[in-house]
Amino acid sequence: MKLSHRITHLTDGGSDGWEVFNRARRMIAEGHAVTELTIGEHDIRTDPSILATMERSARDGHTGYAMVPGTDLLRDTVAARVQLRTGVPTTRNNVIITPGGQAGLFAAHTAVCDPGDIGLYLDPYYATYPGTIRGAGAVAKRIETRAEDAFQPRATDIEAAADGAVSLLINTPNNPTGVVYSPETLSSIAELCRRRDLWLISDEVYDTQVWEGEHLSPRALPGMAERSLVIGSMSKSHAMTGSRCGWIVAPEDVIEHLTNLATHTTYGVPGFIQDAASFALSAGRTLEDQIAEPFRRRRALALEVLAAQQVVSLIPAQGAMYLMLDIRSTGLSGDAFANALLETHAIAVMPGESFGAAAAGHIRVAMTIADERFAESLRILCSFAAQLAEK
Ligand code: PMP
Repeated sequence: MKLSHRITHLTDGGSDGWEVFNRARRMIAEGHAVTELTIGEHDIRTDPSILATMERSARDGHTGYAMVPGTDLLRDTVAARVQLRTGVPTTRNNVIITPGGQAGLFAAHTAVCDPGDIGLYLDPYYATYPGTIRGAGAVAKRIETRAEDAFQPRATDIEAAADGAVSLLINTPNNPTGVVYSPETLSSIAELCRRRDLWLISDEVYDTQVWEGEHLSPRALPGMAERSLVIGSMSKSHAMTGSRCGWIVAPEDVIEHLTNLATHTTYGVPGFIQDAASFALSAGRTLEDQIAEPFRRRRALALEVLAAQQVVSLIPAQGAMYLMLDIRSTGLSGDAFANALLETHAIAVMPGESFGAAAAGHIRVAMTIADERFAESLRILCSFAAQLAEK
């Protein structure tokens, strides 16, 4: 039977970038000890206080259908958080709760792109971006950012690709690069979106993991609230990846349409998960900082390890739970380096190429294992790179 073009062409059919990850998983299944620095999953579990709230809510009966756009409580809590942190007036009518940020990304593109419209995204990119845009029926168009610019996008490069585009997807703090977009970068992107009449889809799921500078939501820039769809999530900020709870903040009419879309797709998010999320968000920055703290510590350790050598260089690690390392001095591609590191030292990292051509010759290291082991793995990685560079 024939399947739809849309689903069979979601990914472009080439390498999906997960080979090293899958290889590491196979090695583990065969009983090998592998140090995994691959995916963005915390090494702590959801806080017991959040779980207790979730359980209480479920036992109190919040196990039926919840309101499709989200409970009033969670929408109010998200709106208050966003307003407090951005200064932009935000009410529950600007918020829809989604089953994670990923579902939010898909719904946001579905809301603004018609079939055949161009949706822009920046390379390096979070692995699902092009497939998400295609899944919404749009044409995904990639714009390269450059290692020499520390992967800060240039508005001129976006402008050159903007003909026929309706949306631009950005992500700060960035996965995979760990870069936080500067106020200048964001102002130039906002100016371009206004001038070229683009929707801005701003993925801010790492907004609590900022190590240098401040997180700036572009929705707060002049004239941007009416053309921005901001994606948020409990996954990274509260170690709730498995709870599948995120949101979109957008103009009221967009939220109304998104609610209609949710009625016909997800039918909302479980009430007991939303109650747990409301509780977690109400704990404010203290809990968020506590959850971000291990990454902050490991980043500091990484800076020490990397300062003691000259072969591997670090893209400024300003936010998110990853380090992007430039290993071009070894003469290997990110892919070849990651495979060789796995074979020789049983350390698994993601090849930069998994996140787009712009990250070729780089590797992404997730800071998701205990401090001492993390620092030791980085030391091994650096001396391995030094050996290769000498050859
Ligand atoms: N955006 C980015 C940049 C991510 O890294 C992730 C998850 N790794 C997501 C969105 C989706 O996260 P979730 O669906 O768990 O909220």
